Amino acid sequence: MCALALKDIRKAYGDARAVDDVSIDFPQGELTALLGPSGCGKTTLLRMIAGLEVPTAGTITLGGRDITRLPAHSRKFGMVFQSFALFPHLSVRENVGYALTIAGTPRAEVMARADKLLDLVQLQGFADRRIGQLSGGQRQRVAIARALAQEPEVFLLDEPMSALDAKLREEMQVELRLLQQRLGITTIVVTHDQREAMTMADRIVVMSKGKVEQSGSPQQIYQWPATGFVAGFIGRANFMEGLAENGKIRVGDVLLTLPKPANFLNGAPVQLACRPEAIRLGTSEAANTVKGTITFVRDLGPVRDFHLDTPLGKLVAEQGADQGRNLKLGDTVPLSLPPEALRIYPRGIAESPMGMAAE
Ligand code: ATP
Repeated sequence: MCALALKDIRKAYGDARAVDDVSIDFPQGELTALLGPSGCGKTTLLRMIAGLEVPTAGTITLGGRDITRLPAHSRKFGMVFQSFALFPHLSVRENVGYALTIAGTPRAEVMARADKLLDLVQLQGFADRRIGQLSGGQRQRVAIARALAQEPEVFLLDEPMSALDAKLREEMQVELRLLQQRLGITTIVVTHDQREAMTMADRIVVMSKGKVEQSGSPQQIYQWPATGFVAGFIGRANFMEGLAENGKIRVGDVLLTLPKPANFLNGAPVQLACRPEAIRLGTSEAANTVKGTITFVRDLGPVRDFHLDTPLGKLVAEQGADQGRNLKLGDTVPLSLPPEALRIYPRGIAESPMGMAAE
């Protein structure tokens, strides 16, 4: 069932469209991550969902009811911001119970509910502390408990982990996901971190320049990126530029085979993407095998990256730690790009050149 739905939502600032005709359905009880680079419009979109901004055009519905112009305080939404925005002069318990106190809930009930929420986020015993006496991770849990105090219909989080260090961030991602599943609450998380989105989300909506590039499960998005942008933004990809030729793709002097003939006119410019871990190194397979010279080896512990100069351009191949043990800098080795691992996109004149997309 769809809890919250956006239809053709737009937000314009002067001539610039921060959000450009976005339509998204957020299923009941699921966690959706809005993912994209800085400035793609994800915070603006979340603020419109929260009622903190009014869309220039489009409608937002909750359970079929139009809430587009309903002010934030009339929506039963819980929000956690980047900064947590906790009250330093109040205790942890008072912070968690704040909204209930404002709403006139009797003090004893506020205290009891706050203590229950503090149990939920594993902060038993911290109720009487001041915010300044907590670590970053504990503050984040207080912010989560506070947002959940009013039993929100929708839970909104804007870069909720950005103030935490890398290790704690990973732990909190798992904790938050488990909590969200336990409560079954419809949740939207804004993040620019693809690992965070993949750890927590049932569904990822990838945004770029105010528009939705793709929406799907983490696996769908990783395995079948709909555009070159998504292939480069989620995980890593080797990009190659080529031309369609009789159902195959010519990259330089090499004719690459696809799992089924490409549906492009002969001579059409295309972009190919291939994940580093899909490249087979040191073995000659039947299809798509070329020779490459190893120019750099990056040992990452569980895996190693081999940078190679090849007739297809510069490629990166990721191998398990026990694969390609004998390979070293300067070696020339066969490498294969399995047809089923190739993704193909139409190429405009201004598309990115061949190379390695950033992680
Ligand atoms: P980040 O990850 O850096 O927070 P974002 O994806 O959340 O980025 P937004 O904050 O939604 O992006 O901004 C989208 C675009 O809208 C940006 O180009 C930004 O400069 C612009 N923008 C946002 N708020 C305003 C405003 N009040 N007035 C004018 N332009 C704005």
